[in-house]
Amino acid sequence: MNAKQYVHELFERVVKRNPNEPEFHQAVQEVLESLVPVLEKKPEYIELGIVERIVEPERQIIFRVPWVDDNGKVQVNRGFRVQFNSAIGPYKGGIRFHPSVYVGIIKFLGFEQIFKNSLTGLPIGGGKGGSDFDPKGKSDAEVMRFCQSFMTELYRHISQDTDVPAGDIGVGGREIGYMYGQYKRIKNVYEAGVLTGKGLTYGGSLGRTEATGFGLVYFVDEMIKAKGISFAGKTVVISGSGNVAIYATKKVQELGGNVVAVSDSNGYVYDKNGINLATVQRIKEVERKRISEYVKAHPTAEYHEGCNGIWTIPCDIALPCATQNEIEIESAKILVKNGCKAVGEGANMPTTLEATKYFIENGVLFAPAKAANAGGVATSALEMSQNSMRLSWTFEEVDAKLKNIMVNIYKNASKAAEEFGNADNLVVGANIAGFIKVAEAMKAQGLV
Ligand code: NDP
Repeated sequence: MNAKQYVHELFERVVKRNPNEPEFHQAVQEVLESLVPVLEKKPEYIELGIVERIVEPERQIIFRVPWVDDNGKVQVNRGFRVQFNSAIGPYKGGIRFHPSVYVGIIKFLGFEQIFKNSLTGLPIGGGKGGSDFDPKGKSDAEVMRFCQSFMTELYRHISQDTDVPAGDIGVGGREIGYMYGQYKRIKNVYEAGVLTGKGLTYGGSLGRTEATGFGLVYFVDEMIKAKGISFAGKTVVISGSGNVAIYATKKVQELGGNVVAVSDSNGYVYDKNGINLATVQRIKEVERKRISEYVKAHPTAEYHEGCNGIWTIPCDIALPCATQNEIEIESAKILVKNGCKAVGEGANMPTTLEATKYFIENGVLFAPAKAANAGGVATSALEMSQNSMRLSWTFEEVDAKLKNIMVNIYKNASKAAEEFGNADNLVVGANIAGFIKVAEAMKAQGLV
């Protein structure tokens, strides 16, 4: 059977075996399509069932998370941990708390994580977890009770050598702290390496908070530099106003770019004078309010309801940093028409398959999430190293390592893209470069 036909039939089986999980299908489709040239060159990956095994999680855990709200009422949420692939290291991937979470979202994220983690060059496998719990509007005490209940089940499936969760949407330093406290209490062991994204007073790494946003900008900078472009003087639109968006904004501003818009799940702010980051951080990180508050502090800025409108703002560079499928084909067309030259995915799978193809066909430089947002997990792995060594590196040391990792990811992805077809297609390059290391490890380890 030829590789194209094999991939087509395998994808059909994946859809049948995992019904009603469109995000997972989308993630698998993109990777499988990219792998055709590799499978043509290395048919043993088909014979050994490498691809067939890589699309099937090693383990999927779904559990009940009961907790009591501030009114004394019992609430029940659903918890997930998908341990996708451990060929090159312990499962590693964040935890997402958002009402949209179901098994299909966690599987898409866990699947992507396999290739992303491999691309970092560090020894970490792929996994992801989460819950349909919505932290928005909950009191601190409610969030703590929920995190404790979540960990009371999760603790038995994780350890510093088995599976190491971190943050994602809705899970930041506060939630990691509560989960770590409960893990320590149940296990009666100070196992700092079991979670990453910890606070600096108990085993966290300097630079982890900034890592995904900074890493994204390091990657995009490398990609545009290859075409003689830089961030200096460029107009940049960034969606989201969470962890990734905030630190992407900070780094773009340091490099001389003008970030004119940010957003949240209700709407977006357009400030042609340049977004004031201190205001965004106060509203989102300290007060945990809506981004619409921004115009109170900056009356010349505009606030618009709805998320898609942000992509109608003319820009040179777009950095989607909010959530999956936030750039659909209509928005992609507007971005291209308005002269956008580069797109860097800070969020996971923020661009639909159709929109991704449209960008690439129209010569837009496109940095795919697996490569461009890998700085977060890479720095999480650096946090694990520091925990194992029981020492802490300075911010400058961590940041220099992060930058080096992002430059190497760019080089490896573009080398693979060139070797297997189209030099400018980093989607294919990142998928292939990430896949080969995992495939070789699986081949060496036999049928497990
Ligand atoms: P945060 O929870 O800190 O922020 C998420 C931001 O996106 C918020 O501004 C949120 O708005 C907005 N958002 C969430 N859901 C939607 C939606 N359905 N529509 C529009 N906006 C939405 O998360 P992170 O910044 O950590 O994560 C953002 C993305 O980056 C995710 O795709 C995540 O998987 C990815 N990522 C994160 C990493 C990390 O280290 N944190 C590492 C690699 C990838 P609101 O405030 O209204 O909820």
